[in-house]
Amino acid sequence: MVAIVQNGHKTLREKAKEVPIHEIESKKIQKVILDMKKALLSQDDGVAIAAPQIGESLRIFVVSGRAFDIGTGDYEENKSIPIADDIVFINPVITKLSRDKEEMDEGCLSVRYLYGKVKRSKKASIEAYDENGKKFKRGASGLLAQIFQHETDHLDAVLFIDKAKDIVNLPPKND
Ligand code: ZN
Repeated sequence: MVAIVQNGHKTLREKAKEVPIHEIESKKIQKVILDMKKALLSQDDGVAIAAPQIGESLRIFVVSGRAFDIGTGDYEENKSIPIADDIVFINPVITKLSRDKEEMDEGCLSVRYLYGKVKRSKKASIEAYDENGKKFKRGASGLLAQIFQHETDHLDAVLFIDKAKDIVNLPPKND
């Protein structure tokens, strides 16, 4: 089991380091990516995770295939369909943010169990390397655009509670 560190852990407040491109396929980096996927999978509500959240100060985040299904509505409608593959973003750089913003509900696997409203750009474009060291670009709107912004914030030592308003504590009910 891979532990997800919580608010107060120092790695969450360190600016994460770039991954040297020639090291992407190394055992060390591949293990970090695998651990991130495992940590994400262990959380029912996890849609994405950044490396600092498992205590690794590296510029990597992973978006769960679930996020894409939620984005299209497929996840809610039919939970039995196979989920899409996780997508790995290494050394991500947001290249474009729409001026158009909206307040979105947000939470974080490292800030249990607070939720709040954060103003995010409705659209975002990102450039990153995948887990094979190949550069790619991706544009997104809605939930995925929100995830790009939340996760790159993690790599810059920012937590959503730094920006959120109307923060509430909603621990899960035991049933
Ligand atoms: Zn987070």
